[in-house]
Amino acid sequence: MNLQNTNLDKSVVVMKVEKDFSLKNNNTFGIEATAKYFIEIINLEELIQILSNPIYKNEKLLILGGGSNLLFTTPFFDGLVLHIKMKGVEISKEDSTHVILKVGAGEIWHELVMYAVSNNWGGMENLSLIPGTVGAAPMQNIGAYGVEIKDIFVGLEAYEIATGKVKHFSLEECKFGYRSSIFKYNAKGQYIITAVSFKLNKQPSFTTSYGAIADTLKEMNVLELSVKAVSDAVIRIRQSKLPDPKEIGNAGSFFKNPEISLAQFNKIKSVYSEIPSYPTLSEMIKVPAGWLIEKCGWKGKIVGHTGVHKNQALVLVNYGHAKGEEIKALSIEIQKSVKEKFDIALETEVNFI
Ligand SMILES: Cc1cc2nc3c(=O)[nH]c(=O)nc-3n(C[C@H](O)[C@H](O)[C@H](O)COP(=O)(O)OP(=O)(O)OC[C@H]3O[C@@H](n4cnc5c(N)ncnc54)[C@H](O)[C@@H]3O)c2cc1C
Repeated sequence: MNLQNTNLDKSVVVMKVEKDFSLKNNNTFGIEATAKYFIEIINLEELIQILSNPIYKNEKLLILGGGSNLLFTTPFFDGLVLHIKMKGVEISKEDSTHVILKVGAGEIWHELVMYAVSNNWGGMENLSLIPGTVGAAPMQNIGAYGVEIKDIFVGLEAYEIATGKVKHFSLEECKFGYRSSIFKYNAKGQYIITAVSFKLNKQPSFTTSYGAIADTLKEMNVLELSVKAVSDAVIRIRQSKLPDPKEIGNAGSFFKNPEISLAQFNKIKSVYSEIPSYPTLSEMIKVPAGWLIEKCGWKGKIVGHTGVHKNQALVLVNYGHAKGEEIKALSIEIQKSVKEKFDIALETEVNFI
C-alpha cells in the first residue's frame, strides 16, 4: 500500500453501469445473485453524480464493500449496487508518538493493517486478516482478539443519502458497541461511509491475553513483542482456525455471541457446568454462540448444499451451489433450536440482503 492522497475529492470519470450483473464474485458466501444495476464508485463526485441521477432515484440501494458480511437471500437484487472502491491513505497528523491516518472507504482492511505493521505503528495488529473494506469496518465495529476498531478510531466521513451532504462522525456519535454501531441499527441505510480516520501508536503496547495469541507467540519463539510478531501470530491462528472463503463459501461468524443475565447463566451452568463465558462491561454474561450451536448438535451438519462448518459451529458454509434462501432457512432452524434448548435468542451478525 502506497502513501498517497485520498482521491475522495478528485476527478470525475465516466462511470460504467453494469446491468444484470452477477454478484457471485462479490460475496464471500459465493451465492449466485444478480443485480439490476452495478456501479463501481471511486470518488465522492461519482457518488453524488449517481445518487442525483433521476434514473436511479427510486431504486433500492445496496452499498457493497468486500461482501464478507452479507447474505443475498434472493437470486435477484432489484436495485442499484454501489461497489465502494474509494482508495487512498494519507497521514493527516503525526507527532513523535502517534500517527493519524485518513483512509478511503474502498481500501482493503487487511492491506491497511499490513501497511501499519510495515511502519511499526501499533493498534491494528490484532485485527489482521479480517476480510472486507475499511468503509464497512465501522458498520459492526469489527473486532478480534480483544481489540475493536473503536479502540483506534478517530472519526469518519459519511455521505447522507437524504440530504446529499457529507457529515463527520466522532467516536461518540458512532455509538459503537459489540459488533454494532449507529450505522448498523438506528441510522441503517441512511449513510455511505466514504473515509475513516485511525490513530496508531508509534510506541505500542500489546494485547496478547486473548485466544491463543500468547501460546502462539511462544510457539513462534518470539522473545520480544513487536507489531509484526503479534500480527503474524494472529494470522497464524486465523489461518489454522477459520475456513478460507476462497475454498469454502462463508461469511465468518454468522451469529453474535449472546449476552445473558447472571440468573440465566447460572441456570444453564447447573446443567452444563462446562459452559464457557466472557465478562462484559455490564452485569450481563457473554456466552459463545458457537458452543450453544454445538450443544444443539449442529456442528458439522450438512443440509442440502449448505451446513455448519465441521470445526467452527459459528460458521455457516456454502458447499458449492447453496442458495441464499437455504442458508437463511438453516440459520432460522439453528436459532429455533438454541431458543428451545437454552431460551436464548441468537441474533445474526451477517446482514441479510
Ligand atoms: C472468514 C471471515 C472471517 C471474519 N472475521 C471477522 C472478525 O474476526 N471480526 C469481525 O468483526 N468480522 C469478521 N468478519 C466479517 C467481515 O469481514 C467484516 O464485517 C467486514 O468489515 C465486512 O466488510 P465488507 O467490506 O466485506 O462489507 P460488506 O459485506 O460488503 O458489507 C457489510 C455491510 O456494510 C454495509 N457497507 C459496506 N460498505 C459500506 C460503506 N462504505 N458505507 C456504508 N455501508 C457500507 C453493507 O451495505 C452491508 O450492510 C469475517 C468474515 C469472514 C468471511
